Amino acid sequence: MFQNMNKMEKENKKIALETRILNGKVNDYNAEFAMSSPVYRSASFEFTDAESMAAAFQNRSKQYTYTRLANPSIADFEKKLKVASEAESVVAVSSGMSAISQTFFTIAYSGCNIISSAHLFGNTFSFFTSTLSKYGVEIRFVDTTNIEEIRNAIDDKTCAFFAEVITNPHMEVVDLKSISEVLTKKNIPMIIDTTLIPWCGINSRDLGIDVEVVSTSKYISGGGTSLGGAIIDYGTHDWKSNPHLGPLLKQKGISRFMFKLKAEIIPNVGGILAPDNAYLQSLGLETLALRYEKMSYSAFWIASKLEDNKFIETVNHLKLESSKYKEIADKQFIGYPGAMFTLSLKSKEKCFKFLDHLKIIRRTTNLFDNKSLAIHPESTIYGCCSFEDKNKMGIKDNLIRLSIGLENKEDLLSDILNSLENID
Ligand SMILES: *Cc1c(COP(=O)(O)O)cnc(C)c1O
Repeated sequence: MFQNMNKMEKENKKIALETRILNGKVNDYNAEFAMSSPVYRSASFEFTDAESMAAAFQNRSKQYTYTRLANPSIADFEKKLKVASEAESVVAVSSGMSAISQTFFTIAYSGCNIISSAHLFGNTFSFFTSTLSKYGVEIRFVDTTNIEEIRNAIDDKTCAFFAEVITNPHMEVVDLKSISEVLTKKNIPMIIDTTLIPWCGINSRDLGIDVEVVSTSKYISGGGTSLGGAIIDYGTHDWKSNPHLGPLLKQKGISRFMFKLKAEIIPNVGGILAPDNAYLQSLGLETLALRYEKMSYSAFWIASKLEDNKFIETVNHLKLESSKYKEIADKQFIGYPGAMFTLSLKSKEKCFKFLDHLKIIRRTTNLFDNKSLAIHPESTIYGCCSFEDKNKMGIKDNLIRLSIGLENKEDLLSDILNSLENID
């Protein structure tokens, strides 16, 4: 509230992410100057008179009306995300899937197509192939590591290119800058799910990402306390050629995409973030950079100690020489590329035995909790998918996914080594 960080920035002093997150000017509504933002646990907001009530509902004043439309705790979290990402505008929603679905409800239309990798988070794959496709949206699956395939899939009905920054659990990395060059020439927006690499590990704007969708349930919530999602617009795409967005009047400081999302899609879909969760996620955001640094270094250290282990077929970590994607990951990401890596064992049965012998690492889904987590994706996250869909998504049954937390890294390595000794 009182700090002069904005003044420092005007004097061209670049302020680092961890400083911005903690001290960026965000809260205009904190009447008592509380250091920790209050939680506004209220469905509606009242008015002194009928005229001010009418003014608020007609957007002639900034007073809050009803939490599905706006709430000070959600707004506070959104401003913090904006300070962290340095984007043009941000909206926080109820989950990562809420961010993905509401983004595509905003831009997709019957007859359009979306170009995407088939190697997707399970619910994103299902949202595309089972939900959106019923409304006349075509999903064109391509190999997103092949630029020519992307170029050839584009036509005048392409409304977006979508990919995950690192595919989960395959650990493939797309070359964002090269793809962005192709997309920019054809005026196609690049929408990327960056859940696996937060802003301490990637400079999204420089790589040409127009819109980021994030599951804040993961790195940002920190302790795995709550679900949340965010849609982050860098204001870099001109939406004029989209038949739904082009006719909208251009607003000051907000893209046509964000305007439609905020004014129509979010109020109509209702997938808003709960104010309590906005508070929990704001707390998580404060320690993001610190946690990311420790977790991603530990993940690399553990992965490198497992490389020659006789029980493991391959260790898939982007910083290891054996990774096909090391070069692009080194170029694209800052520091160690995140806290997730995978192990290919000799069979599904050995994967189950490995999980059953873990004593510290938790058997659970989720990623980037403070605690380390392990899962066998094929039988769980993708357990209800058909054999054909698993094949399309590239899901193998001898794979274990690990998410490394904040525990002592030697303890975690011992836990893994001990479990491996027990799988025969
Ligand atoms: C978890 C996850 C999602 C979905 O997020 P929720 O908050 O669980 O809805 C989407 N994409 C990726 C890459 C994820 O890991």
